[in-house]
Order: sequence, then C-alpha cells, then structure tokens
Amino acid sequence: MVDHSKLHILGAGPAGLAAGYYAKKNNISFKIYESSNQVGGNCKTIKDGQFSYDTGAHRFHDKYDEITTEIKHFMGDELKEVNAPSQIYRKGEMIDFPLNFYSILKNLDKTTIYKIFIENFNNLFIRNNKYNDFKNYAYQLYGKTLSELFLINYTEKLWGSPAHELDIKVSGNRLKNLNITSLIKQLIFNSQKVNHLDGSFYYPVYGFGTIFERIKDSFDHTSIYYNTTITKLYHNDSRITKITTGHNIIENIEKVVSTLPINILINALDPPPPIEISDIVNSIQYRNLYLCIIYLDTPNFTKNASIYFPESIYPFTRIYEPKNRSSKMAPNDKTCIVIEIPYSPDFLLPPLKEEQVFSMTRDILIDNELIDDEQIIGHKVIDLKYAYPILKIDSEKKLDNVFSFLSGFKNLYTIGRSAQFSYLHIHDIFKQADLLIKKLK
Ligand SMILES: Cc1cc2nc3c(=O)[nH]c(=O)nc-3n(C[C@H](O)[C@H](O)[C@H](O)COP(=O)(O)OP(=O)(O)OC[C@H]3O[C@@H](n4cnc5c(N)ncnc54)[C@H](O)[C@@H]3O)c2cc1C
Repeated sequence: MVDHSKLHILGAGPAGLAAGYYAKKNNISFKIYESSNQVGGNCKTIKDGQFSYDTGAHRFHDKYDEITTEIKHFMGDELKEVNAPSQIYRKGEMIDFPLNFYSILKNLDKTTIYKIFIENFNNLFIRNNKYNDFKNYAYQLYGKTLSELFLINYTEKLWGSPAHELDIKVSGNRLKNLNITSLIKQLIFNSQKVNHLDGSFYYPVYGFGTIFERIKDSFDHTSIYYNTTITKLYHNDSRITKITTGHNIIENIEKVVSTLPINILINALDPPPPIEISDIVNSIQYRNLYLCIIYLDTPNFTKNASIYFPESIYPFTRIYEPKNRSSKMAPNDKTCIVIEIPYSPDFLLPPLKEEQVFSMTRDILIDNELIDDEQIIGHKVIDLKYAYPILKIDSEKKLDNVFSFLSGFKNLYTIGRSAQFSYLHIHDIFKQADLLIKKLK
C-alpha cells in the first residue's frame, strides 16, 4: 500500500487523535492505524443499554488555558463544569477528600491527630532533602502518620510496588493540600475550600470519551484504519522506511508519530535495536486495571464523584459513579458504579476470570454494607491494559537511553502516556501533540 499522507500516526487513543486533530488544523495530511475497532484507547465512554460509563474515573483538568480553550471550542455546550465532592472510605467511615482540617478532627482519634500535627510541625523546621522515592517524599511533606494512613498504602496498591521503589512522579498533583500550612490556613480562614484536582472539573455531558468521538467525527472517514495492528517498522539510514500491519505493507513513509507503548514500538523495529535497548524496554512494566461495573436499581449509590479506598484489605483503589459527573450517564431511578482494581500480569498464574472479579468485588461491597444484593441488576468486567506506567526511581534514567536511541531516527516521534512511559493526562497529551505538530509543519 502506498499512502501519500505526510504523517502516519500509530494508535487511535487520545494521543493519536490529538496528533490527528492538530495535523488537520495545520493542513497536514495524515492516516491513523489502530489495532482495535474503535477510537479512545484507555479513555473511552462505553454505552450499555441505559447506562454509560468511562473506562475509569476521568475528568478534564484545566491546567493549560490554550488546551482548555481548544477542548471547549470543539465540545461546545457539551463540556460542563462539574462540582462533585469526593471521599475516602476508611474503617467503615467516609472522610472528605481532599483531606481538610475538619475531616481530620472528625475522623481520627486524638493521639493520631496529635502525632500528625507534631510531625508536620517538626517538618516545618527540617531542611528539605531532595528525595526521589515516594515514601521519603511523602514522609517529608506530610509526616509519617498521615502518609501511612492515606498515601503509602493507596500508592502501593495502585502501582503494585513498595513506595520506596516508586518515583515521586506517581503522586501526580493529587495531595498537595495535605501539608500543615494549608490545614492551618483552612482553620484561620474557616474555609473548607481548597484548590485541588478533585471537586471542580470539566466533564462532557455524554462521557469523557466523547472528546475523542467528536475529534474522530471531524476527520475524513478514510483517516483511520481500524483493526490494523502495527507489527513491524522497517528502517534504513536512520529513517523509518516501511511499516507492516499484518499482511499489508505501508511504503513511502514520510513521518511517523507513535503512540504505541514503548515496548511494542521498540520490539517492532527491524532491524532490531541494540540488545541493551531491548533489555530496558522489556524490563519496564505497566499496571493493568480490572474495571468492574455494577448496575444498581437505586437512584444513587452516593453523591460522590469518586470514593478512594486506601486500605490494603480492599483490592480496589477507587469507585466512581458516572451519574454524579453527568445525569445523562444513567436513568433517573438507576445508577451504576465503576470499581477500579489494579493488577500486574503474573505469568505464573492464570488471569482472573470475569466472574471471579465480579463476585469478589460484589461480596466486599455487600459485606461493608455499601450495596445490597437485591439492588444489583447487572454487571460487566473490563480488562484495561497499559493503564499506568510503573514509574520506579530508576525508570527515567534507564529510559533516557531508549529515548536517546529513538532520537537518532530522522522521521520517528513518540507522544502519549504509554509511548513516553510517563504519568501524562489528557491536557498534557494535547499539549505534546500541539507542540509536535508545530515542529513538524
Ligand atoms: C483509570 C484511569 C483514570 C484516568 N483518569 C484521567 C483523568 O481524570 N484525566 C486525564 O486527563 N487523564 C486520565 N487518565 C489518563 C488517560 O486515560 C491516558 O493518559 C490516555 O488514555 C493515554 O492515551 P494514549 O493515547 O497515550 O494511550 P492509550 O489510551 O493507551 O492509546 C493507545 C492506542 O494504541 C493502540 N495500539 C496499541 N498497540 C497497537 C498496535 N500494535 N497497532 C495499532 N494500534 C495499537 C491501542 O489500541 C490504543 O487505542 C486516566 C487513566 C486511567 C487508566
């Protein structure tokens, strides 16, 4: 197959579609190759009868003005600002999240509160060390007690590794208001409002994944090849010359933007890269998620956008209720909840069957009196691969060698979460795509 498009984009997840979006805006011809039969990657909205839900609790973060303006522009009235609280479930109690002075006073015993304040007060006078592991970073910022109660256990469950082995980047920006200064500010100014990722955010009324559906709809219908798995990228003289997708060969390649997981890209190169490069990408790991969706015959599960489960006794990290982000996601008298269960592939054990995931989740929710068996009217289980790149303290340094090797190619570029093995969000991905396309113009 000879294609005269200037840009060949591998993958139709958020990164691939953002690249296509800016290519179109800049009049650059492109084709997108996607192994599945739909767009959106790990960021889809799934419709099942009367219910809709996203593949995990997504919200749009208003971090870069120009990107928010861009999304508002093509989503129009469909993008709404949502105000929905979140909570933490601990020892059978719901605690407001982000943590605030009042929720700490209300939910923890006096000795624990005392310890938290002493540790955080002492931290004010300790010279800041530059820790690069999550455990010491959390201790330094929030003190040992608060960290152990809410951060370390949650982080280890989500990323599947001991906190002292994880890079501080796994924290995202989530817990920046936990420190003593903001707690005291809340006390003095009697304000429970904190500027935080949770609470207020943008969300499309028909689900987060519609951002990518709308982008796809704006493309010429021949722009995306579905069910097209990239198998090999042939190169010569530091240029990608041919790409194979099963039995098809795409020739006449000008520029390639890969959004494929970095291990897939490196292993598809022909001739293969130096062995040390393959060894690095074969040693890094991604965390997967089972999403257990339970349909309930009740108008609401809670009022929360998300509920976090830091305790290690629960296999899940978060439950999200789509209806609390947009009323269009479920009928008035019913709701559904999406439970996120992180896991790492274990090559020695067979993967859990869908029914096992569901019955384990259902039993825990019933035992904790969070749902009644009679309310359940259906369920689904989704296995989401490549959900999180497991960022260990040495990952970035190791991957520098891989990206430096890739930068030797004159016509190959990578963007996106799995492609860059970086904890990126949608606003970051749009920004990357915008910058890359400007560079390629
Ligand atoms: C539970 C959860 C919650 C999240 N919440 C938020 C949030 O609130 N806000 C936010 O901004 N972000 C959030 N994110 C992050 C966001 O979903 C990701 O950043 C985004 O999906 C990454 O997009 P991507 O295109 O880089 O990768 P992906 O979504 O993984 O897309 C890659 C695409 O490449 C395709 N592909 C793979 N291999 C091949 C091949 N060989 N040939 C052809 N195609 C291939 C895949 O099928 C897929 O479509 C969340 C993620 C998760 C998992």
